[in-house]
Amino acid sequence: MDIVLTGTGSPLPDANRAGPSTLVKAGDTHILVDAGRGVVMRMAGAGSLPGFLGAVLITHLHSDHVSALNDVITTHWIMTRGAPLPIYGPPGTAQFVERQVHALEADIGYRIEHHEVLTSGPNVEVNELEPGVAFDVDDVHITTEATVHAPVKPTIGYRLTHEGSVAALVGDTIPCEGVDVLAVGADAYVQTVIRRDLVKLLPNAMMQDVLDYHSGVVEAAQTAARVGAKRLVLTHLVPAPTPEQYPEWIARAAEHFDGETIIGDDLTTITI
Ligand SMILES: [Zn+2]
Ligand SMILES: [Zn+2]
Repeated sequence: MDIVLTGTGSPLPDANRAGPSTLVKAGDTHILVDAGRGVVMRMAGAGSLPGFLGAVLITHLHSDHVSALNDVITTHWIMTRGAPLPIYGPPGTAQFVERQVHALEADIGYRIEHHEVLTSGPNVEVNELEPGVAFDVDDVHITTEATVHAPVKPTIGYRLTHEGSVAALVGDTIPCEGVDVLAVGADAYVQTVIRRDLVKLLPNAMMQDVLDYHSGVVEAAQTAARVGAKRLVLTHLVPAPTPEQYPEWIARAAEHFDGETIIGDDLTTITI
């Protein structure tokens, strides 16, 4: 299984970091977790495209995690000429997708009118999940748990198992039982993080608000250690580090976690 960090950014615009998203390639099955800004460009960089996707998994409906879902839907539709695109997410996902497609109504009409091979609009199959539900995408087994990112409710984390390899991918959350269940013994535990010590220094009230609903690097490392994860993968990096600062982030995690900690640029790939 390859885990590609297709977007390591956050809501803060960054020329070098796309918005939050992670691509999992499990054999021939490609699964996208979240769809932040620029994700389709990064998928192309990762040797994938929306038309290859077996499913899209959404952790929550914060804009930074779904702002490019319309690009995924449209590009998948055109590339496949209307094959089904399964999207899994928390309650509210169906309405969000419906409104995205509604916003694209003029474009959909133009393309159907212009291309004889297109006879209908995007064929999106939304599956709204209650936490705890399990399902399969091809030969990838996926379990889900609730995570904690109040006032955003519900938020969902995912555990993907393929040929004995396990990846836990959780979105924005503070440490909680759901994350522990998903990440226990995982070959890779991918966690969105902030640097709590650095964010505290920022003279901006809205930045201070993010402190109470994200995991810090230290907390992610403590979770990884507590559940026996083999690798901790940091993404959604706030504030975004320069590559020269990566060792400092890893050192903070290493104070609490003996396993490998991975941080990097967009398209960093972890093979498990
Ligand atoms: Zn976020
Ligand atoms: Zn969020």
